[in-house]
This record gives sequence, C-alpha cells and structure tokens, in this order.
Amino acid sequence: MTINWNEIETKWRNRWIESKDFETNPNDKPKKFITVAYPYPNSPQHIGHGRTYTLADVHARFYRMKGYNVLFPMGFHYTGTPVLGMARRIQAGEKEILDGLRNIYHVPEEDIKTFVEPIKIADYFHEEIKSGMIEMGYSIDWRREFTTIVPGYQRFIEWQITTLKEKGRIIQGSHPVGWCPDDQNPVSQHDTMGDVEPKIDDKNFLIKFKFGDFIFPVTTLRPETIFGITNLWANPNVTYKKVAVDNEKWIVSEECAKKISFFEKQVTVEGEIDGSEIIGKYATNHDGREIPILPADFVEPSMGTGLVMSVPAHAPKDYQALMDLKAKGHELASKIEPIPIIATEGYGTIPAKEICEKLGVSDQTDQKLEEATKELYLKEFTDGKLNEKCDKFNNEKVQFGRDKIRAWLQENNHLEKFPVLENAPVHCRCGAECVVKILNNQWFLNYGDEEWKELARTCLDEMNILPNNIKTEFKEVIDWLHERACARQQGLGTKLPWDKDWIVESLSDSVIYMAYYTLSRFVNDGTVQPENLTKEFFDYVLLDKGDMSLAASTSKLSEEVINTMKKEFTYFYPVDSRHSGRDLVQNHLSFFVLNHVAIFDKKLWPKEIVVNGSVMMDGAKMSKSMGNIIPLRAAIRDHGADPIRLAIISSAELLQDADFNMESVTGIQNKLESLLEECSRLKNEPISELQAEDKWILSKAQNLISQVTEAVEKMRLREGLHDILFSFESDLSWYNKRIQAKERKDVSGILYKINSFRVAMLSPFAPHIAEEMWEKLGQTGLASKSQWPEYSKENVYATSIQSEELLKSTINDIANILKVTKITPQKIVIYVNSDEFKKTVYRKILEIMVGGQNNMGVVMKELIADPKTTDAKKMPEYIQKVIKDLHSESEEIKQMKLESAEFDEKKFLSAELSSIGKKEFGVEIQVYSEADDDIYDPKGKARHARPFKPAILIE
Ligand SMILES: [Zn+2]
Repeated sequence: MTINWNEIETKWRNRWIESKDFETNPNDKPKKFITVAYPYPNSPQHIGHGRTYTLADVHARFYRMKGYNVLFPMGFHYTGTPVLGMARRIQAGEKEILDGLRNIYHVPEEDIKTFVEPIKIADYFHEEIKSGMIEMGYSIDWRREFTTIVPGYQRFIEWQITTLKEKGRIIQGSHPVGWCPDDQNPVSQHDTMGDVEPKIDDKNFLIKFKFGDFIFPVTTLRPETIFGITNLWANPNVTYKKVAVDNEKWIVSEECAKKISFFEKQVTVEGEIDGSEIIGKYATNHDGREIPILPADFVEPSMGTGLVMSVPAHAPKDYQALMDLKAKGHELASKIEPIPIIATEGYGTIPAKEICEKLGVSDQTDQKLEEATKELYLKEFTDGKLNEKCDKFNNEKVQFGRDKIRAWLQENNHLEKFPVLENAPVHCRCGAECVVKILNNQWFLNYGDEEWKELARTCLDEMNILPNNIKTEFKEVIDWLHERACARQQGLGTKLPWDKDWIVESLSDSVIYMAYYTLSRFVNDGTVQPENLTKEFFDYVLLDKGDMSLAASTSKLSEEVINTMKKEFTYFYPVDSRHSGRDLVQNHLSFFVLNHVAIFDKKLWPKEIVVNGSVMMDGAKMSKSMGNIIPLRAAIRDHGADPIRLAIISSAELLQDADFNMESVTGIQNKLESLLEECSRLKNEPISELQAEDKWILSKAQNLISQVTEAVEKMRLREGLHDILFSFESDLSWYNKRIQAKERKDVSGILYKINSFRVAMLSPFAPHIAEEMWEKLGQTGLASKSQWPEYSKENVYATSIQSEELLKSTINDIANILKVTKITPQKIVIYVNSDEFKKTVYRKILEIMVGGQNNMGVVMKELIADPKTTDAKKMPEYIQKVIKDLHSESEEIKQMKLESAEFDEKKFLSAELSSIGKKEFGVEIQVYSEADDDIYDPKGKARHARPFKPAILIE
C-alpha cells in the first residue's frame, strides 16, 4: 500500500478545522496551558524550526487525550531590527540574500519586490510560517493569533513595562551593552550573525599609572594585585597613540582608543609614540612608587589598552616573562624581584614560581602557562589572604579584599571600569563587528538586583525543568545576568510610554505575553477594541488589583465582558509548560522567569520549562552556506507531514542535537504504511476464551501503555515513539509465531484491541495517519479526541508473562543447541524441575536479588542464615547458575516472579510446546518432570533442571 500523504493529511486537517477541536475556551475540565516561543518571521521555516513546535504539539495533543482542556496558541514576533537590515540589504541588491530567497525558499519575484519595506517581509513570512504550521498538523487555537505590533498587544506591552517601572525593576543608568557601531543600536541574540548573545564581562578594570603628563592605563581582572606590581610590559613593535580622553591625556594602543570612544568619553587622538621609546622608562603607581617599563612581544595591542601590568609573584605568565628576560641578561630586569602580597595555604612565598616549576614550564610561549594561571588564580581567589604589603587591606581574604581595593582605587581616580566582550568577535547582522558601549541615562531592566535574582531562583526551584539536568544552567544564567537595556531607538515594536523616542526591545516585549493569549481572542473578534485596554483594566484582570468599577469606567467595557476576560485569564494562567530551544536558556527563558516573578503573584508563576536541542542535517549544522537547508513546506509536500514529524522526533532525545536525514523518513513511511495496512485488515471480532499467548500479549500491551505514558510525560518522545512503533514489534512477532503454530483464526479481536491502543498513542506523534488508521479500524470519532489508553493492572497476567518467557527461552535454548551441534533432531526431550528444595532455594535467591544484589558471597551468606535454605551450601554450582539465570532477566520480570504464585511448568510446557516445537523443529517435544516414574532419561540430564530453566536432551 503506497500512501498519498498529502491527500490523507488534507482530509484530516479539514476535519479538525471543521470540528473546531483545538479552539479552547474555559470549561469544567482541568486545564493545561502549553506555549512555545513564537517565531520571528524574517525567513521561512526549515526543518530545524519544526522541532520545538512539533515537540510542543505532541505534548499538547497528549494532554488533550488525557482529558485536559489544552490551550495551545501561537503569535508572531515582529519586534526588532532584523527585517530592517534585511530590507536594506534587499534594496541594495545584495546577491547572497536575494539568491537565498529565490533559490532556497522560492519566494515569488513579485513578493521579493515588495521586500524593500520591512513590514512586507514580516507579513510574507508570517503567512508562510503559519501555513507550514497548519500543514504540520499543529493543534493550535488560531483565534488567538496576533503579531507583536498590533495595537492590542502594544497596549499590553505598555502596561507590562509601566508595571515593571512602578515596581522599581526598570532603572535609568549607565551600563555596558553590546552595540552595533553602524546601526547605532544595542544588539542581542536576535541581531547577530549566528544568533550569538553578546556576553559582557564587566569585572574587567583599567588602572591608571602616571607617565609624566600622561596617564598609562592598564587593564586587569585582579585589582588587588596593584600592591605586588614590579613592572609594566609594553610591546616595542607597537606604535601607541597619545589620546585626549575627556580632560586627561592617555597613552594606549589604537584599538583601545577606539574602544573607549564608546564609553561615553570625549576621545581625540593627538599624536603617536613608538613602543620602543617607552621601554626602559618609569611610570609611577598609586602611591608614587617608580615602576620600570619592560619589553614584551606577547602584549597584543588589541588586548585591553595594549599595556600590561606585571605581578610576577602571583601571575605565572609575568613570572616566566621576567625569568626569560633575566636569562637574556636584561639589565633592568635582573634587578627586579617578585613582590608577594597573597598568602595561600599549600603555597610558599612566591606561588607563581612554584607552580611554573611544578608544571615544568619552559618559557613564556609554553602552553602550560594557561593551566598554571587558571589554577593559581582560582586557588588564590578562594583561599588566599592579603599580606602586610597591602596596607589597610592586610589580612583580608582575596575574595572580599578585591572589591574593597577596587572601590578604594576608584574613589581616588586610579581605576575605571573597562567592560569587554567575553565572546568577541560578535558580528551584527549588518556585518559590523559589535563593540561594548556604555549607555548613559538609558533604560535598563535591573536584572543585576540580588533580591530579584533570589525570587527567580525560588521560582526555578519549584519549577519542573525538562530535562532536569539543565536547571543548573538556568541558575548560572541568573547569577551572571546584570542590567540589560530594554529599549532601542530603531526597529518595530512598542514605544516606551514615558519616553517615546525609545522602542521596547524584542527580548523585553516577549516575556509575559502568554498572558495576552487569554485575552487576544476578544480583541480579534471585535468584542474589545485596543483602546479599551487601559492600565486599570489590565491591573484588575491580570493582577486582581484595583476594582471592577475602576476597570469598567476607564475601559468603557461592560462588567460582563471584563468578568468573562478575567475568568478566562484566571482559568488558563499560569503557563503549565513553556517550550523552547536550548539557545534561549541564556536569555528568553531566563527573562521569562524573571519577569513573571517581578509582575505576578506566586500562584501565577510558570510551572514547567521544556528545552530541546537543535537540528543538524546529515551531521552538519543547517546553514545557507552549507546549502543543506530544507524548507519545511517543501519537505511536507515531498514526504508528508507525519513522516517529517516522526523523523524529527526519532532522531534524538530532548536535549541532544537531532541529526536529521532523509533515509530515516523513508523508513518511517514504510513502517506507517504497513501499520495502516494491518489496521485495514483487523476486525473488532468478539474475543473468545483467552489462551496463554493472548494473556501474554495483552499483558505486554499494558506494559507498553505504561512505558509510553511515562516517556511522554517526561518528554522522552523518541523513546515513547520507538516503543510504539518498533520495540513492540518483537512481541507481536512472537505472538504471530504462536498463533500460526496453533493455526488459530480467532485472534482478530485481540489484535484489534492492541492496535487500537497503539494507534491512539501514535496519534499525538503522527496525528494525520493515526486518524486514518483509527477510521480503518472502524473506531468512531477522531483519534485525537479519543481517550489516552489507561494502564490497568487487572489486565496484566503475571503468570502468563512468566510462562511465556519460559516457553520463549526454552525454544531459544533448543535452537541454540541445534545451531551449535548442527544435528537434525529425531527426538527432543525436556525435563522440568520438580525438586521442592531447589524451588525453595530459587525463590530465596530471587528475594535477595530483587533490587540489584547479584554477589555470590552475599547470596550464599543469606541462604545459609535462613534455616529453610541453610543446606544450600552443599550446592554452590546450582546457586551460581541460578544467580546467572536471574541476572540476565529484567528487574520487572524478577519482581513479577516474586509477587506471583508459582505455576506448574510441566503442565504448561506439555500443553504449549508441542505445537510450536513441531512447527519450529519438525519433531514432537516430550516433556517430563524430574520425578516422573516413566521418565526417559538415558543421559541423566533431568537432575540439571532448574526452575524456569528446563534441561534438554536432543537425539
Ligand atoms: Zn549592525
């Protein structure tokens, strides 16, 4: 059977749309509010984008079948500058971008023409992405859709940002930001090539030395080492600049002069001086000490100021550079000795010397210096104490002293901040290299506030994070976050209500918008106009602040409408699950948490975050330059939405990067086709009395239900899907072997029942084809609206599972013997254990081993300690074999054996072995118990029988 995927998928999509199944209003069921980060429409979706949405859709569909009233909405994020830059590049006729639009995404020429207007780009891709989402079968309530520049949403953002300001979360100040010098705008992840968030290190400082009329600034991460300085390093091959900086004159590298011009300083280059001219002269430090300047090739003009301070007692690199100069007989260097200022347990007076010698550092180019530096810096920071050379800071621990010394130097104008880009170079989408800019008197979200961070940590502690191991990454981001510019001067978005020159930036207007989904349908259907959405309205509806009469009088809405909207918000909020890609942990997802705790009461804080890895294509990152981008809609047309969904899900577990390849799509198509074929054949016939293998396969189906349910709840979707489609097949093929051997014709009802479970569970993963299978099975209604199969313990036949395992392993053992001996059997005889003592010992061992114990010594000790089994010490070989038998069984089977009553192995095997044995091996199989009087046992094999492990004779 070859499936016409597009035809089947269209058929079922239309059915869903007709039945309005995914349009969700409050009702009396429990709710789940599942959201996923809305897309930014500046390019069409490729297969990689499909991952997060597909995972969230499976989640939503699963909970709907579990009986929840699930709200799964979608919006489109227009805010920001990317479409502006894109429009400019298109207008300039840039070949790369136009080629991409034409050749990869096949955008019609007449649409490309309109792309000189940024909004046209966003509108075009908005529709494109939305169509793709519909074609993928995402169960979205489209009545709630919005873009972030519609007036209703803008009212909401104005309220959000005003509320944050009133709560003191937005401050005006001077803080460093990542900045595009060409666009004159702050940059964040959305604005950079490769989507990198510019990371600013604001713990880097500049310390000023005097050099005649000039200032010699050097940068350091360790201001406390100012007391141990012995010399400065300058590069003799660099031409330095004499620069007027506000009302001081500095000597710095050209690169540094450029950097500080973004620090809100007046910078004018007035002249030059060669590095070689500085070398050998002296600068003075904060207390007037003369500091010689020595030559160093390793000083890069692009690092800091192009000048470096030397603390040879505590900086391994400085120590080694000094030693190298001394070895060359440099006169000035030979007079210099390290000045130790930090005492650290485990180290002597000159720690840098010790660690260089310990690691065997050869000279200043030695790679081991990195390791030495890292180790010593950390050790001195955590355990070190400042000594008497540090004046009033004597005896301070380094970790506290550092900040005190920094503040003291700053007060005396010896130190300034010199923030740097930790992950430089970062490039803006316009191509320019980003710099650090200190923005003065601008609007910042005060993410550096410790009390705010603490609230966010509380929220994270109580939240379910999937996968759980990423929680620490969230904590690190919260620790590291500091003030963040929340407004821009360019781009699409909402104006700051109190300062209309500024626009709320894209990572600040996308943090609590999930709340707006609960209201947007009223704006979309015209019940409410944007101008009705006043501050008092939002305060009352979202925060339960103020009162109805105030909300009604300012909004001019009826109390009834306000009440309905408030009820809707109260019903759906908080967010039960937020889905997003891993790259958004460091910004969006953390801001989502921070803003919720800032604005809402605890009961409205988000409950769960689900984070997934990205998608690779045949092992490589998807990128235009690699030419390996597959547009999602093209893939759907060629292969069907369900095969694409399953290929995405089955390629990786949640946090792993998924490696997508087209071969897997074909494999999945074939699998689905054969399952559909089977569903078409099965009839819901009445089930007659259950035979052993029926009870077994029905138990296995219960097992499947329980495993898949747990996997989906924990978002281990790959595992769940694999269980439904593949793992269960081996059980089914054993079942088929059994019924064929018995020539049974009465199993359609059983297979019908089992496949109904499977199809229902497949429905969230592959919703279209599951509906088709459901229909073929003759089920009424939609699979997506059916109830998720419930695990029921009453339908698990513990004895049947064990007896069937016994039968399987016996057949396997016989087959193995035949394979090894290569004989054609004339006669096969099976001996089952009937010795009561061996049984007692077996059960005792089972008891000991449940839970993981499999040490022979321990088992033996416990057997001897029990008077009922103490004689087991005479049969160590038997015990060893039983341990081995049980060790190879699953914990689940062991548990089951322990809990259920024993069964008669001889009776079962006599009844069941003959049919399948004859079919498999062509001869009748005789079954004896060890104690039978008429036993045929010419080789004395019977005494080797163990419970669940019959002895076998083949002639
Ligand atoms: Zn730029």
